[in-house]
Amino acid sequence: MEELDFATAFPFSEGAKKYISNSLINEKVIEIAIERIKRGMAGEIRTTALFSENDKIEWIASFATARMILGFLKNSNITNRFAVTESKIARSMLDKIDEKTVERVGEIFGITTINDGKNIIIDMCAFLKNSPRSIDYKLINRKLTGGRMEIKASEKRRLIEEAIRKRIEIIPLVKDPPQEIKAAASRIDALVPKSSTTVVIKVDNHPPCIAKLLEGAKNHINLNHQARFYLATYLTGINVSEDDITKIYSDLPDFNDRITRYQIGQIKKKGYTTPSCATVMTYGLCCAVCKIGSPLNWHKLSKDRKEEIINGSK
Ligand code: SF4
Repeated sequence: MEELDFATAFPFSEGAKKYISNSLINEKVIEIAIERIKRGMAGEIRTTALFSENDKIEWIASFATARMILGFLKNSNITNRFAVTESKIARSMLDKIDEKTVERVGEIFGITTINDGKNIIIDMCAFLKNSPRSIDYKLINRKLTGGRMEIKASEKRRLIEEAIRKRIEIIPLVKDPPQEIKAAASRIDALVPKSSTTVVIKVDNHPPCIAKLLEGAKNHINLNHQARFYLATYLTGINVSEDDITKIYSDLPDFNDRITRYQIGQIKKKGYTTPSCATVMTYGLCCAVCKIGSPLNWHKLSKDRKEEIINGSK
């Protein structure tokens, strides 16, 4: 892959910096950056076809400009959505490019592997540092040999995707940017619904594991598949409406209204019930010793017992 194409596809790379200069923050680049942020907010995983050298350089500059806008805006929800979308787009690139280029992207994040022709071997530290929050990536489900383990090619790409997301999510605060950046931030801010993203049920009415997931959603932290499934079965189990569950999920960085409603519908249609505490433990989501068998039994406990458990879990 040519240097410019690499920087265009992976604008967070060191090499991309050499294509950017302050003079590039012009009206056109700011408009592209705004569209890029909007794409992130909507979770649209689509790539943009760029042909001329100038278009590619503007595209790289728009990434830096978008980060500047987000750094001034200081809205963690938008930033996290932007990071998720950009990392998924980068992942779609990783699925198309040759192995050598994948290696190169991985090296940016210290994700290096040994391929002996049969297996891909990764160091445990690199694996742990970049693992997505999924049960499949828990060490308990891995065979470790001398601090290393085997991974699949798709898992390697997933680790890189996660590393990209985390890198993009960290945005330095921008205190006094040029006026055009401030104006762009105001335009983005105007698109944020001001009242619909409030968690509609009180966190302290629920068992510690659920309270933690609700707090996570409220703080725009991406929940893994199992956490989302568990939370949805619990909320349907206590008769929270589909609209209210969707509102809670709308705070997640990769929220998609249609998919969320479909999944809630599937949980109801297939009759999935709230898992037992023992099962929640296998998901790695249990965080207290409630001794209640099922999270739904939380609601049968006395106020004093609830407080005792909550204090004990802190
Ligand atoms: S014991 Fe059950 S209810 Fe309590 S935190 Fe663990 S899974 Fe949740």
